[in-house]
Parts: sequence; structure tokens; C-alpha cells
Amino acid sequence: MFIDSHCHLDAEQFDTDREDVIQNAFDSGVSVMVSLGADLETSQKNIEIAESHEGIYAACGIHPENCMETTNDDINEIFRLIENHEKIVAVGEIGLDLHYAEAPIEKQIEVLIPQMDYAESHGFPWVIHCRDAENELKEIIEKRDYDGSWTPGVIHCFNGSLEAARMYMDMGFYVSLGCYIGYPSARNLIPIIKTFRLDRIMLETDSPYLPPQKKRGQRNEPANVMSAAEKLAEVFGLSFDDIARITTENARRFFKIA
Ligand SMILES: [Zn+2]
Repeated sequence: MFIDSHCHLDAEQFDTDREDVIQNAFDSGVSVMVSLGADLETSQKNIEIAESHEGIYAACGIHPENCMETTNDDINEIFRLIENHEKIVAVGEIGLDLHYAEAPIEKQIEVLIPQMDYAESHGFPWVIHCRDAENELKEIIEKRDYDGSWTPGVIHCFNGSLEAARMYMDMGFYVSLGCYIGYPSARNLIPIIKTFRLDRIMLETDSPYLPPQKKRGQRNEPANVMSAAEKLAEVFGLSFDDIARITTENARRFFKIA
């Protein structure tokens, strides 16, 4: 059994056949999917999807790409959603992005910090998107006096340096890895992935984005989490079953899913 720890089932790419995509994932051996919002509207939509399907959980948050139009009211509305619904297992997708996002870093930080604070004080982990902003993220996290007593979060779609990898492990973070680790362009990432603690790795797809190499150009689906598992098994020299068991245990512990 596998857990897709990061997907976007609300995406319009699934509007015509969402139920089939979900069923196909379950039929392929995915037992749990965590579907993440990227703004208020998509957070609401993912809650609806989670509440109407066993085995699907939601996370709510405002993604750095959507922070330009975000007001304090929107952020508070996200918190209200989290308070009023069950099946929410994390605050995300939140983070910093100096590659794609248009918002200046100051604005991104202004939206990120209250979401981090809320998660920390309410016992939710962060699901963090960090693109070309490792130093900025490091600065923010170091200021928070992390004492090691709780699991701060997961770095989704890890794509950073060896130094960043060390920092995340030292601070108690998990990392989630997707089908993209099998791309020819990810070759340099493999030795870095090998340095991760096995009890801190989760699998993800980031569906509908980042499909496996063999399916480039198509939309990604949670059932493709197997492709990430195969590559990860190869990287660590473990069996497919071991990777399934280890990453599933990790995701259950991380999201506190029984
Ligand atoms: Zn995502």
C-alpha cells in the first residue's frame, strides 16, 4: 500500500473524470491521498473532496504563487476552515518561491508567517513548497527557535542542495519525493537523496503536475506514485515492498493518520 502525500485533486485537469482517477488510485494500491489547497477556493474544494471520500485527507493553505491578492481576511478564513472541518491534516501548501512566483519576497513572508504560526500553535505540520529560496526559508526557521519537540513539516518536491538537505534533516523536517526523481535532469539530485534519513521520506505525486518520465506531457495522477517508489527503491537499494512500507509508515506518523 502507498500513500500519495501530496496531490491536488481539486485541479481542473480532473474535472471530467475525478471519480475515475480516485478509484484508479485505490485500485492501484494507493490507500491514502492527501490533497492540498493553494488558496482559499482550492482549500475549500479539497475539503469537500476529502469529506466525501474515505482515504482522502486535505490540507489548507495559501501558496506563494497566490499570495499577491491574499488579504488578512483570506488567511483568517483558511484558519476558520481548518477549525470547522475534520480530515484536515496539515497547513499547506505554503512556502516561498523565488523562481515562479511574482510576489516580492516580503509579501510572500507576510503570508507565510501567520500560517506557520497557526499550524505550530494548533499542532499541524507545515507542507512547504520552497523553490530557489532555501536561504530565506532557513532564516525564517532559525528565528523560530525550533526545539525539536514537534515535527515542523515536510519539504515537498525536494529539489535543493546538499546543504539544504542537511539543514532540513537537522531541523526535523521530512521530505517528499515524486516521480520527478526519475527525470534525466534529476541525476544530480540522487546522491543528495541518499543522505536523507529513511524514516523522514514520503512519496508524493504533486498530481496533476510532474508526471513520470514515461508520461511526460500528460497529466499526473496519484496512481503514478508507484513510479516514484520504484526509483526510490533503486536509489536506496531496497525492495519495492520495503519502500512502500517505510514511506507509508512515515506518512501515517507525519499526518497522524491512524
Ligand atoms: Zn503541490
